[in-house]
Amino acid sequence: MMLLGDCIKLMLNSRIDQIKQRYFLPNFVAKIVGKSIKKVGNYYITFCPFCQQNALQWRDRRFWVNNDVCGCYSPKCQNDHKPMDIINFYARYYKVTNSEAIRILFEGV
Ligand SMILES: [Zn+2]
Repeated sequence: MMLLGDCIKLMLNSRIDQIKQRYFLPNFVAKIVGKSIKKVGNYYITFCPFCQQNALQWRDRRFWVNNDVCGCYSPKCQNDHKPMDIINFYARYYKVTNSEAIRILFEGV
């Protein structure tokens, strides 16, 4: 017999998997920050929506994105340098909880 907590956990994990399959993180980030994104080797860079509203030059852009996670490498960033997956990124950007982010992304943005 499965416990209710395990059921909820399984359902959440399946939602998270589906969200990650549905959105390509580099495109998702580019759309949200409203700027273009540039491929550099195995990852992409763009400006950081948390600390770099005014970074005009590509060389000054500090936000990296790969297929699974993204983060900022500016030392001054309020984002604490922990890589974020799509859920963490959405939650932080829109100031919602992770569970709200999962619900919103699962229902479609
Ligand atoms: Zn930053």
